[in-house]
Amino acid sequence: MNGELVRKGILFILIGPAASGKSTLCERLVTEFPDNLQYSVSVTSRAPRAGEIPGKSYHFVSRDDFEARRERGEFFEWEETHGNLYGTLQSNLLDGISSGKDLLFQIDIRGAINYKRQFPDNVVTIFLLPPSFEAMRKRLCGRGAVDQQELTRRFDTARAEYAMLLKVYRDSGKFDYVVVNKDLDKTYDEVRAIVIAERARYLRIELESVKQFCEVTA
Ligand code: 5GP
Repeated sequence: MNGELVRKGILFILIGPAASGKSTLCERLVTEFPDNLQYSVSVTSRAPRAGEIPGKSYHFVSRDDFEARRERGEFFEWEETHGNLYGTLQSNLLDGISSGKDLLFQIDIRGAINYKRQFPDNVVTIFLLPPSFEAMRKRLCGRGAVDQQELTRRFDTARAEYAMLLKVYRDSGKFDYVVVNKDLDKTYDEVRAIVIAERARYLRIELESVKQFCEVTA
C-alpha cells in the first residue's frame, strides 16, 4: 500500500455564457493541479480571437476539415454554436482516461448534458453565471472590439442556456453545481473546493483500495 486511495477519473465540465470566466478558471485549475488534471482542447471551425493560442485554447480548423473529421468519427460529441462548429475528440477522452488524470472541459450545456447522460457517476458539471447581463456586456466589451451582431448572438445563446438550466432544475442528476462569478478569486476558491470535495467522494474510490486501508492488522 502506498498510502493513497485509488479512485475513478472525473470529467469536470465548466459551462456558462460568454465572459462568465470559464477560460480563466480552467487555466488556473490546470496550473494548480498539473499532475492530475488535464484540459481537453476542443476542435473548432471558428477563427482564433486575439490572445488565443492554437493547440492550447482550441485546435483551429476550417469548416471543411471539421466536417471531414466528423465524417471519420473522430468526435466524441460536437455542437454548432454561434454558427461555428465545436467538438471534443474521442482521443482526448481516451488519452485522459489512460493517463489516469481527471479531465477538464469547457463546453456548452447541450454537450454537458450529453456527457452526464453517458457517464452519470464520472461527470461533474459546474455552471458559471455572470452576476447580471449588464456585467456580461461590460466584460465582453472590455475584451476589445465586439460588434453589435456578435453581442446579440452571445446574449441569445446565454438566454437559451439559462432556459435549459431552468428546465433541468427538478431533474436532479443532470446538473451538479451553479456558481455566480462576482469576484474571480472567490469564484476560483469555490470551484477548486468543488474539485477537491468531488475527488474525495466515497463512490469514486475503488473498493480494493478502501479494503487495503481498512485491513486491521494485530
Ligand atoms: P467560444 O467561441 O466562446 O470559445 O465558445 C462558444 C461555446 O462553445 C461555449 O459555450 C463553449 O463552451 C462551447 N464549446 C467549446 N468547445 C466545445 C466542445 O468541444 N463541445 C461543445 N459541445 N461545446 C463546446
